[in-house]
This record gives sequence, structure tokens and C-alpha cells, in this order.
Amino acid sequence: MKEELLALKEEALHSIEKSEDIRELNDFRIRFLGKKGKLTAILRGMANLSPEERPIIGKLANEIKEELEQKFSQKASELKEIAKNARLQQEKIDVTIPSKVILGHKHPLTLVLDEIKEIFLGLGYEVVEGPEVELDYYNFEALNIPKDHPARDMQDTFYITEEILLRTHTSPVQVRTMEKKMPPIKVIVPGRVYRSDEVDATHSPVFHQVEGLVVGKSVTMADLKGTLITFAKMFYGQERRVRFRPSYFPFTEPSAEMDISCIACDGKGCRVCSYTGWLEILGCGMVHPNVLKNCGYDPEEFTGFAFGMGIERIAMLKYGINDMRLFFENDLRFLEQF
Ligand SMILES: [Zn+2]
Repeated sequence: MKEELLALKEEALHSIEKSEDIRELNDFRIRFLGKKGKLTAILRGMANLSPEERPIIGKLANEIKEELEQKFSQKASELKEIAKNARLQQEKIDVTIPSKVILGHKHPLTLVLDEIKEIFLGLGYEVVEGPEVELDYYNFEALNIPKDHPARDMQDTFYITEEILLRTHTSPVQVRTMEKKMPPIKVIVPGRVYRSDEVDATHSPVFHQVEGLVVGKSVTMADLKGTLITFAKMFYGQERRVRFRPSYFPFTEPSAEMDISCIACDGKGCRVCSYTGWLEILGCGMVHPNVLKNCGYDPEEFTGFAFGMGIERIAMLKYGINDMRLFFENDLRFLEQF
């Protein structure tokens, strides 16, 4: 039996030596040392040995097993190292091959927002931001839209609970800003807003707004008009004509909408402007006294104006894009044009 063991050892060592890869080595390991392997088979014969021989053979078997295990793992590390080097060799990068580097760039919505920010920063405004998950109080109530107000139907709202919602406009940040500090205030508020609209060429459940707020002593409608006309001419060109139309928003009084002469037809009338010659670009108005009161200001002492516009709409007009979905689909053929 001792001879059998020694023969097995020789045979195993030889097999280890000639193994060329890790899989072959593992096969050999299982064949010699596995549960149904040759060593186990030999040791089954130990029952027939005399009590004197048994411990001697047992010890020898253990020594052989340990030695072989060690050889197997040593060979395994060698083979792994060889395989690793071969892989590195194969994956080596040839830095002399000419390559084409494709650089990313800003999204058209970011480009438009950057340009709007640039204009208002130049006019002395600060940029502030606020939460997208908002309290009903900030999104509606503080803005003069109580729970039963019909104006709530103007905006289809995603409610999380009865009191928590996804903001439907950037206006809650006006309230948050006024609560924090006393006038003078001159801020613009860019950000994402949410409404439960179906997706189509001009609607998306997620879109972007930029809002402006100015509050101080003796701020008037003339300041509002002067500011927005300056903005429109800086953004759309000095040749643009501008008009204000009376409108209604619960948080401003009086309220207006501002139009610019159509970019596509210069006011003659075309499909882009529905043959009116005008394009609506923003809503605005004097901050409602109730909103000032809700923020702890005395409407007799302070007045202000606010305005808001949709960034997607501004970008669509600027670049002549006719489908809002293009902004969100991340099609490189579209994005590469900007
Ligand atoms: Zn037109």
C-alpha cells in the first residue's frame, strides 16, 4: 500500500508539472485528491491493514496529501500569473493609433438658461433655488390660492400627500425668499416643475421655468415693463417689438402677459404665431398684497413685481424646435446640433 501511495504521488507531481492552464490543473486535482479521487480509493484499503501498519500508512497518506495540495496551489498561482500577463499583453493600448475624441457639451435647455441668467445677473439679480418636493402652503396657499380656489384647476398637480406635492411652478421660492429676508429683493429662480400633463409636442409632465422677483420701496409697473422689455431685446434682438396684454394670476395684481413680435415672420403672420404676428413669452404682474402680507411684509410699505417663463418654450422659439419631446429623448442626432 505504501508503494501505491508513492506511485500516486509521482504520477500526481508529473501531472502538475505538465499542466498548461488552470482548468487542466483543477481536473488533475480532482482526479487525485477529490472525494472520489485516487487517494481516497487507495485509503479505502486501510481497513485491511494490521493495527501496527495503520498509523504509519495514515501518516504517510497525510504527508503526501499535504505536499500535493501545496504543489497544486503553487502551480495554480503560476498559471494565473501567466494568464494575467497574456491578458495584459492582449489589452495593451497602442497610443500611436489616431483616435477621434467626442467631447460632450451643454444641453440646449442649459444653454438657454445660461443666457437668461447672464442677462439678469448683469442687471444685478441673484440666482436662488428651492425644493421640488414642496408643501401645499408654499405652492398654493401663501401665493393667494386657498384650498377651494378655482385657480387650482389651472394646474394639474401631482400630490404626494394632502399637504405635500411636486411644485407646479417656481413661485413657491418667491415666498421662501421673502420669508428669509427683508427687501430689497432681486432674484431669479430657475428650476424643474411638475404637472400631470400628457406628453405631446408642447406638453411634458416635467419642464423648466425661470421666475423673477423684485421687491422694494416704490417698485412700480413701470419698473416691471422696463426690466422685461430690456430682457426681451437683449435675448431676442433689439429689433423685436414688445406688447403687454392684461391677464390673470392669483398671486399678482394687476397681471399681464408679454408678447414679442414673431421671430419667424417678424409680425406679418405665419403658422408659428398662428397668424397673429405675436408670440407669448412670459407672464408677469405686480406682487399681490396678500402674498406680501403672507410673507410678513407690509404692502403699504413695500411693493414688487414678478415674472415667470417656461424655458422649453423659450428654447423652442429660439432654435425653431417644434416638438418639446426632443429635449428629453437624448437623441444624439438632435443634441449634436447645439
Ligand atoms: Zn409669425
